Amino acid sequence: MSLNYEENPRDFWKALLGEVELKLSPMVYKSLVSRTTAELGNDGTLKVLCEDDFVKNNIEKRYNKIIEEAGHKLLSRKILFKAEVMKNNDPQKQASQNTSFGPLFVQARSPEENLLEKQRKANLSPKFTLENFIMGKNNNLAYAIATAVAQKPGELYNPVFIYSGVGLGKTHLIQAIGNEILKTKPGTNVIYTTGEAFTNELIEAIKNGQSKGKYSTNDFRNKFRKADVLLIDDIQFVIGKEATQEEFFHTFNSLYMAQKQIVITSDRPPKDFNSIAERITSRFSSGIIADIQVPDMEMRAAILRTRRDRAGDDIENDVIDLIAESVTTNIRELEGAYMQVLTASMAGGVTPTKESAAKLLGQNIKDRRNKNVGVNDILKAVCTYYAVKIPDIKGKKRTKELVIPRQVAMFLIKEMTGTPYMTIGDFLGGRDHTTIMHGVRTIEEEVQKSEKIKQDVANVKTALKENG
Ligand code: ADP
Ligand code: MG
Repeated sequence: MSLNYEENPRDFWKALLGEVELKLSPMVYKSLVSRTTAELGNDGTLKVLCEDDFVKNNIEKRYNKIIEEAGHKLLSRKILFKAEVMKNNDPQKQASQNTSFGPLFVQARSPEENLLEKQRKANLSPKFTLENFIMGKNNNLAYAIATAVAQKPGELYNPVFIYSGVGLGKTHLIQAIGNEILKTKPGTNVIYTTGEAFTNELIEAIKNGQSKGKYSTNDFRNKFRKADVLLIDDIQFVIGKEATQEEFFHTFNSLYMAQKQIVITSDRPPKDFNSIAERITSRFSSGIIADIQVPDMEMRAAILRTRRDRAGDDIENDVIDLIAESVTTNIRELEGAYMQVLTASMAGGVTPTKESAAKLLGQNIKDRRNKNVGVNDILKAVCTYYAVKIPDIKGKKRTKELVIPRQVAMFLIKEMTGTPYMTIGDFLGGRDHTTIMHGVRTIEEEVQKSEKIKQDVANVKTALKENG
């Protein structure tokens, strides 16, 4: 037979399929052989006739490269080929075949597609990787642990507990661990979930009870206890909720005993969870704990520069430095400000300058302040409500009459203005930011537990609204 498609397209196509056979799954190969044929097109191309659109699309999108390569190999020159749907096809038949042959094609995924599918099943977003996580002074321990755990899950550090304030990279890092493991050890059963999703899923399972065919507590247990790597983000949602906490405890123990890797993130260190959960928090502390701090100026600028370089954004270093100087709270807000500067200038068709960025960001800080009440107003309202003096609240005395109003002030300032802990600390008499974090959390918890505190907080807010 002549290996020249212009003379004998049908045989040439068969030979070509033979050539690619080993690159395809046997199912796909068979269905290509049985569902395609070839003839010479008017324009001298090899016309591959496909039984239906489905086959045609697959050939064009999935196998086009393999076919071209094989053609090149057979002829020592580039082949010109195009896929077409055979004419006179019974549409009825076509529809039924689509479904029966569909899965054959689905099986032939590229490694990248396989990885994406695994990531999707594990609940992971591919955008969070270890490569694009910038390491700095503020996160180097957490980063080193994440890297080590991704290399040897279950062997080095277990459990891993990472904590930080919002927007500092916990979700990025914990997801990056999962993504890296799926990439390097594709057979691993990785499950990522959040404390909140874990809670909701359990509630759903309990609610379903024993009803047949519904997701039950048994299903819940089986799912989580089959994990090789369990990643739970924002565990604080679980703590304090009796049933969920208990279930988590059992899941934790069974995985831990089986030397499966557990990684947990939280907005606070284990010791800050209240005593009900001590049994559990001592488990957290049995592995390794790392925190992520607020990034310094250098780190903030490095994050934005890397981002700029990767995306090829049109923005100069001096503008980046200005953004890094203006946004000190966390990386999420930093990225938000960067995007804002970039989009504003893109919309105007200009390159952002220091001046335009300063105006934009300055404007915004003011906007936010106008909308909310001021820090001073809040402190005044708290003092009036509890009948205590401002200097006492800012002072050092720790009597009961002062401690609660002081913490309520911390809480309301944080909640209503979003002022950084450190700034609140300075404002309230030069207190450490950890003291403020602790105070805010205490009231957060008290509001749940104590009707009185809840009412007090609500009353101060009402007073602020009425006066403001
Ligand atoms: P958290 O879960 O602690 O609230 P995230 O992980 O959601 O914070 O991080 C907020 C944003 O900042 C994300 O877009 C994340 O990719 C980015 N980010 C955080 N830390 C880093 C880092 N070290 N390098 C690069 N990007 C980071
Ligand atoms: Mg997060």
